[in-house]
This record gives sequence, structure tokens and C-alpha cells, in this order.
Amino acid sequence: MKAIPRIVMGLVALATGLLLVFDVALRLFPGEADIARETRGRIVQALAIQVAAQLQAQDLRALERTLQGVQARDPEVQSIGLRRADGVLLAHAGEHLQRWRPERAGTLDALKVDIGSDRGRWGALEVTFRPLHARGAAWLLSGPVPVMLLFGLFGSVLFYLYLRRMLQHLDPASAVPERVRTAFDTLSEGVVVLDAKGRVLLANRSFVALAPPGVDGAPIGTPLADVRWLVRGPADDGLTVPPWETALRTRQTQRGAAYRVVTDGRVTASLSVNCSPLLDERDVVRGCIVTLVDLTELERSHEQLLDALTDLAASKQELEIKAHELEVMATHDALSGCLNRRALFERAEALMAEAQAQQRPLACVMADMDHFKSINDRLGHAAGDDAIRLFAALLRENVRALDLVGRYGGEEFCLVLPGVDARQAAAVAERIREQVADSGGVGPDSARMRLSASFGVASLAAGAASLAELLEQADQAMYAAKQGGRNRVVVHGAADRAAAAPAAEPTGAEEVMA
Ligand code: GH3
Ligand code: MG
Ligand code: MG
Repeated sequence: MKAIPRIVMGLVALATGLLLVFDVALRLFPGEADIARETRGRIVQALAIQVAAQLQAQDLRALERTLQGVQARDPEVQSIGLRRADGVLLAHAGEHLQRWRPERAGTLDALKVDIGSDRGRWGALEVTFRPLHARGAAWLLSGPVPVMLLFGLFGSVLFYLYLRRMLQHLDPASAVPERVRTAFDTLSEGVVVLDAKGRVLLANRSFVALAPPGVDGAPIGTPLADVRWLVRGPADDGLTVPPWETALRTRQTQRGAAYRVVTDGRVTASLSVNCSPLLDERDVVRGCIVTLVDLTELERSHEQLLDALTDLAASKQELEIKAHELEVMATHDALSGCLNRRALFERAEALMAEAQAQQRPLACVMADMDHFKSINDRLGHAAGDDAIRLFAALLRENVRALDLVGRYGGEEFCLVLPGVDARQAAAVAERIREQVADSGGVGPDSARMRLSASFGVASLAAGAASLAELLEQADQAMYAAKQGGRNRVVVHGAADRAAAAPAAEPTGAEEVMA
């Protein structure tokens, strides 16, 4: 615990300061000067009493011997002088005349004591001492300085030992038994135990491992909400209350809060955080246990799965398009875009069965271009193809989406019109016939050829039992139209007279347009 040395330093500084204050006020630690002042004062006082007694005896010689004896015995004393009030030096020891300086009287090195008589002040005893400051830095070794140093040294050691022992009981991390901690460390989820104020009491190994490198992953004593690398996510508005605070307040377990580990502004892990309040035997909230499950791998697989699904959907769509294209190719004729023979029969059979079952009308129209061979012959095969495309387009434009338009063969087409009777079918055929005849024809302007076509109409109502029979009837009607002069519509059963027949006119394909 780094706090202990700091507390120790503070305590030692405070205690030393206090001692200094007491020393100034109460002179707890007297220095050499204080001791010297005391002893020297006493020496001079005692000497003065002795001198005063000897003065009574009027024996100045004996007095001087006494002074010399004292001076010789005490190495501190440098000189002694007995001076009458009028300034006359009566007796002395050492070189008092040279040493005594009246202006220094009263200092530590020069003490003076007045000697009185019945008639007032008689004179004074003057003593000079060895100067104290002459001993240089030795003063450092006296007075409060060494005491303070020793106090600081021993105090630090003692305070440290004492605090370390005492704070162990206060250290939140040591409140959790070692075996519980070891058990938490074996868990793969991050586990953090919080106190009732949301401060970290314990963080297990997995939690520490989540922390970005170089960051203290076990911030014991700090609120978990202050752990900077643990961010509410993915959309953190910064206002949401952390789930452990909610758990502490509501005493309800909080589950599945989304959190992120952010390293240098980059998300390095996704977490799911659960918080369960810890209640004591009196149901008081004592803290909260927070578990953090790392979802990074799971989320990554989930994303990969989503990507794969998107790819799959895309390829499915592509496949569907391709299948549709294939279906169109398989059922349609490339040149005209109409149904091919096989698809025409297949679908016509279905419509036929439906019409028979529901007893609804159905009509069939056979359409064949007139003198088509001569277009090929005169203008070439490509112009023939153009004519086929033009004819097919007109056929398709004139029927409904539910009707069938199939290429029966060459320039012969077949329409199947469900719900339509012979009269309506003849009308459709007639409309197409007119449009073919009115179309611009094919070929270059210099040799443009007009187009015409013949139509045979057959209706289910006429009694055909099968599709083949119905087609045969329509074909016969169409043949009759050719026989009748082409460029006309013939309804089966009215073969001799052209239904909605136009006035006889030269067949368009024979005529070369100007
Ligand atoms: P009719 O008025 O009696 O129907 O006479 P037609 O010339 O139209 O009839 P015919 O059956 O004698 O000739 C059909 C010709 O159509 C024969 C063939 O060469 C030509 N033909 C068939 N299929 C195609 C095709 O896909 N393209 C082209 N350009 N010609 C084709
Ligand atoms: Mg023809
Ligand atoms: Mg033909």
C-alpha cells in the first residue's frame, strides 16, 4: 500500500513540528548555550558569595589565590577580576585586564556579578569564559536538532510498522479471504466485487486481463464508474446510470448491460455486464457483485454469420434471376419472344382443362403471314426475320396478359384466349389483321414490301373435345382464309364465308411499296 509511507511522512512532520513548538515554548531540549548559561551563572554566583566572604577578612592576597585556584581548576574560566565600584581592579586571575571587555559584559562569555556592602554596591566580580562559538559546527550536536533527527528516524520506522499492521484491517482488498479470491481467479468471466458505494473491493484475474495494457486493471478503492476504459456501449449517451448503481439502489439483479473496452479510443472487446446486489443477514445492501462476459468472439461469429446470410440471400436472388432467365429461354422462342411450341401446348392444355371444367369459353386463333416466302426470296432472310418480329409484336400487343401467344412454326402463330368466344376472338384477329396490313412493312425504302396475314378462329363452344382438335379446327379455318384470298379472318364452322372479311384486295405481300 503506497499510502502508508505518505501517512508516515505526514505524521512524522506533524509530530516534529509539534515538538519544535513545545521546545520553543518550554525549552524541552536545552542546547549547550542554555546549559552553559546555567552553569556559568551558578559558578559566578558561588564565586561571588565566596569572594564577598573573603572581603570581610580584608585578605586580598588570599582572595587572589582563591581566584587563581578557581581559574586554574576550571578550563571553562579564562580570567577572573574583582573590581571596586570606582573601577580599580583589586585582584585578578588569568590575563583579566586583556580579556575583559566591558561592552561584552552580560554575554555568555563575560559574566559580571555585583557585590554589595552595607553602604550599597561595593563593586563587581567579573569572569570571562571560553567562547562557545569557537567550537564550530559542534552546536549542531546539541539542542533540538539531534533529538528531532532521531525522532524522525525512529518515528518513521515505528509509525510505518504500526500503520502497516493496523491498516491491514482497513485494507478493503484484505477483507476478502484468500481462498475466495483464488476461486474468483479461476473464473473465465471478469468478476468485480463492489462495496455499497460502488467502489472496487476485488477484481479477479479475468477482469484485470480485460484492461488495456499498461493500465491498472484492479483499481481497488476507486468507483467502478470511474474506470475509464470500461465504457457503456454501443450507444453511450453518458447519462445512463451504471447497472451496479441501479442494483445497489433497487436491490434487483441487473442483467445484460452492454459495455465496451476502449483502448486508445478503439473498441477492443464487447462485454455483457450482470450485477447482483449483496445483502447481509439483515437485508442491508453491503455491495454488489459484477460479472463481465466477453462477447467479442460471439459478436464476431454473429457478424460473420450475418455476412454469410447476406451473401446467401444475394446468391439466392441471383439464382432466381438465372432460373427465371433459363425458364424464359426454355419456354420462349428467341426470334419472336413468343412461347415456343412445347410451352404453348403445355399451357394451352392447362387452360383448356380449366375452361372445360368450369364450362367457360375458350378460343384459338391460327395466324399465318401471307406469301412470306417471297419476302425471304426478295429481301433476304434478315428482312424475313424482321417481318416475323413485327408480326409477333402486333400479336402480343393485341391480347391480354393471360392469353397465350405461341410460335407454331415458321411464320405461323397461335393465340389461345381463355374466356373468349368465337365472335370476340374474330374481332381480336380482325384488329390484328388490320394493324399488320397498315404496318409499314419491311425492307429498304426502295424495295419495301407490305405485309398481310390470314387468320383462322376456332372456339371450344363448337364442340372440340381436345386441344389438338381445337387447333385443327383453327388451322382448317386459316387454310380457308388462304383459299379465300388471304388477308382475312375465317371462323371455323363458317368456313365458306369470311367472318369480318375485308373487301377483296390484292394481297399486301405481293405488292412492292413505292
Ligand atoms: P402462304 O401465303 O401460303 O402462307 O405462303 P408462304 O410463302 O407464307 O408459306 P410457305 O409455307 O410456302 O413458306 C414459309 C417460308 O417461311 C418457308 C421458310 O423458308 C420460311 N421460314 C420459316 N421459318 C423462318 C424463319 O424463322 N425466318 C425466315 N426468314 N424465314 C422462315
Ligand atoms: Mg405463310
Ligand atoms: Mg406457313
